[in-house]
Amino acid sequence: MSVLKVSNLSKAFGGIKAVTDVSLNVEKGEIIGLIGPNGAGKTTFFNLLTGIYQPTSGEIEYDLNIKVSSKDFKPYKMTHYGVARTFQNIRLFQNMTVVENVLIGFHNGLKYSVASSLFRLPQYYKSERNTYEKAIKLLDKFDLLDKKDSYARNLSYGDQRRLEIARALAAEPKLLLLDEPAAGMNPKETAELTELIKWIREQFDLTIILIEHDMSLVMNICERLFVFDYGHLIASGLPEEIRNNPRVIKAYLGEEAN
Ligand code: ATP
Repeated sequence: MSVLKVSNLSKAFGGIKAVTDVSLNVEKGEIIGLIGPNGAGKTTFFNLLTGIYQPTSGEIEYDLNIKVSSKDFKPYKMTHYGVARTFQNIRLFQNMTVVENVLIGFHNGLKYSVASSLFRLPQYYKSERNTYEKAIKLLDKFDLLDKKDSYARNLSYGDQRRLEIARALAAEPKLLLLDEPAAGMNPKETAELTELIKWIREQFDLTIILIEHDMSLVMNICERLFVFDYGHLIASGLPEEIRNNPRVIKAYLGEEAN
């Protein structure tokens, strides 16, 4: 079952064509790797997928919580559609604690009315307590429970990246977009993250698209790869096919030669 359909998608910034005529499909439950040299258009593609940018032309369609097209995207409603993401530059609330960061992720799913919040009705307390319990469970799974009261800013880089994923999961997405989840991690942290991503796909019944430069992670967990170069989708297929694709090799070697 296709959960994401991208048709002839383009995005230009003035004269710069960041994404050009990209068409692709993603099936439910897949782990997809989005790779390509620096400046290939990967982050712009994520920004289009999350409604931060409107396409110059073309269309994105989701069939997750509801069917919705990029013509109707509201960026603040992405979690409602079933999409959550993390960012290349970690975006945590640095001056809030670990558990508070996750609680914010639950915000969209809270099940009490404004009135019950204002008047502190039982429904409010029940919902808050359930949410807190869920946050604690999530932190436990992410091995962050002993740090729940630490400020986010005091966590190691690897812990911050995992906390950002935990917060994204709090929104109960069906599709998780990870922008360079292994950036800045050492090989041990990357290996642990690889296992964690596999595990969350199973546990949370997710479809995952990740942008990543770390080929060990990409080749290890991605079932299919999409390769971008200068805004174009130049190849797609199984990791072993991509590894031996002359056009992909040229795109990467070209970058190294610069
Ligand atoms: P990296 O791997 O380095 O993060 P990327 O593949 O994510 O790169 P993008 O960040 O999407 O690439 O950039 C694609 C192109 O679009 C680049 O030439 C970039 O300079 C340009 N670009 C991206 N965002 C904007 C913007 N808001 N305004 C103008 N140009 C932009």
